[in-house]
Amino acid sequence: MSERWPRIVLHADMDAFYAAVEQLDDPSLRGKPLLVGPNSGRGVVLTASYAARPFGVGSAMPMSKAKRLCPQAIVVPPRFDRYSEISKQVMSVFGDFSPDVEPLSLDEAFLEMSGAERIFGGPLEMGRKLKEAVKEATGGLTVSVGVSATKYVAKVASDFRKPDGLTVVHPDEVKDWLAPLSVRALWGVGPKTGERLAALGLDKIGDVAAADFDWLKRVLGDNGGTHLYRLANGQDARRVQRSRRMRSIGSERTLAEDVSDRAVIQEHLRSSAASIGRRLRRKSWLARGVRVKLKTASFQLMTRQRVLDPPTDVGDQLYKAAVPLLDAFEYTEPFRLVGLAAYDLVRPDDPLQLDLFAGGPTKKRKAEETMDSIRERFGKDAVQRAENLGKGSWEGPNLDYQE
Ligand SMILES: [Mg+2]
Repeated sequence: MSERWPRIVLHADMDAFYAAVEQLDDPSLRGKPLLVGPNSGRGVVLTASYAARPFGVGSAMPMSKAKRLCPQAIVVPPRFDRYSEISKQVMSVFGDFSPDVEPLSLDEAFLEMSGAERIFGGPLEMGRKLKEAVKEATGGLTVSVGVSATKYVAKVASDFRKPDGLTVVHPDEVKDWLAPLSVRALWGVGPKTGERLAALGLDKIGDVAAADFDWLKRVLGDNGGTHLYRLANGQDARRVQRSRRMRSIGSERTLAEDVSDRAVIQEHLRSSAASIGRRLRRKSWLARGVRVKLKTASFQLMTRQRVLDPPTDVGDQLYKAAVPLLDAFEYTEPFRLVGLAAYDLVRPDDPLQLDLFAGGPTKKRKAEETMDSIRERFGKDAVQRAENLGKGSWEGPNLDYQE
């Protein structure tokens, strides 16, 4: 029973969040294959409804490919203001259940529930009540919930029976429960590390848990070996961190003339991306998201954002992720300000979403690092990328910011 739980950690993750909000607001979309994203060839799918997923479409897939796989899908442009409005309702429900809520994104959070049994009942009851409360507060949205004694297992458990899932993993059963799952469910194991583990004969989490610890450290390095061995054995001491800061680093420019030419906007994004990449590397952050901000001549502010997978500190990657976002804006009048921000910053050694052994886009990164060191030695004028030359259209200096 719950007195044998050393801690109770709950992970809650809204189901197909953007698509579910669209279906909530427009009942005619319910139960139908739906793709949220820009309705153009160049953009990517942000969220696919569950009815679209059997066709093999999913988030981050190019919209053109998704429409080929699922031609009957309805494409809906994203409404981030609405998603963040609902996100606030959901986070406020989470706040009713625990003073310690750690949001991971708009639609996902850890809740520290230790000691709350007297108010909500045992772990299963807590999960049920949270699901009900979210459904009621939002007018019908479902959330998948995982409950266990560690953050790691709670997060894997919330994903176990999506959508509308509730999975409780008792601390005594953690090792057995994890054992048959693919090593890809271990934090820090992306495609590259997955291949590496498979080559070592480690396909399931149980294989890693049963492996010889010294051998694992020898073949995966001390940090990697220790990290994966601990997770595979259900050990994860990390606390739920209240108000984990959603940091961002950005750069914006007010233009000398209002601009409607997309190529000009792209040039601004390119130089902002280069400067943000430099600042990320200097501070040792990787960005998990990128956001484009445009202000129209009549001072209407619009933003579009997307998740970066894998996270990056490479300017070129930020730029490539930002450009398709331009498809999601309406070009009814010229723009007077162009901004770019990297947000949801993580440390390179944070195993939460990172592929431990994926070296990233190494060639580009090396090239940018080389320029960093030249700048450091000879001053920033020593490196002016050819594409940044002759673009004297700023009204004033860049506004570089960090929040
Ligand atoms: Mg979600």
